[in-house]
Amino acid sequence: MSRIRGRDTKPETLVRQRIFAAGWRFRVCDRRFIGRPDIVVPRARTIIDVRGCFWHRHGCADSTMPKSNVAFWMEKWSKNVRRDRRNEEEWRRNGWNLIVVWGCALAGRLRERSLLRICSALDIWAEERAKGTPRARPHRLTLPRQP
Ligand SMILES: [Zn+2]
Repeated sequence: MSRIRGRDTKPETLVRQRIFAAGWRFRVCDRRFIGRPDIVVPRARTIIDVRGCFWHRHGCADSTMPKSNVAFWMEKWSKNVRRDRRNEEEWRRNGWNLIVVWGCALAGRLRERSLLRICSALDIWAEERAKGTPRARPHRLTLPRQP
């Protein structure tokens, strides 16, 4: 949380700026979807869910444990994690591809690679959609690959 980052650094902002520059148009916090996903890219039928590692319990080094009020935090986190799971199931059931981007994927050395992977997934999935390639399950990509 107190990790040093550059300016203009909200993780969602980084993703939005990059995909916009790559030519993607998207909706932000769309109320028509459960959980108001951060970014909805209709042409690739993809939802991008940017998750803070601390709040959503990624399990990486950023998922620190507070020294006090542990019960309070545990309760809050379990709600967040349950909500994430519920939203994700609902989006995928409706045929939306999903990219889960953990905050740590956008920090430091991983940032550029993560942003490139997001753009290439959108390219591939949009092309597949344009061709009408049938799929049993929507795509799912998680960044970074490992916590
Ligand atoms: Zn993380």
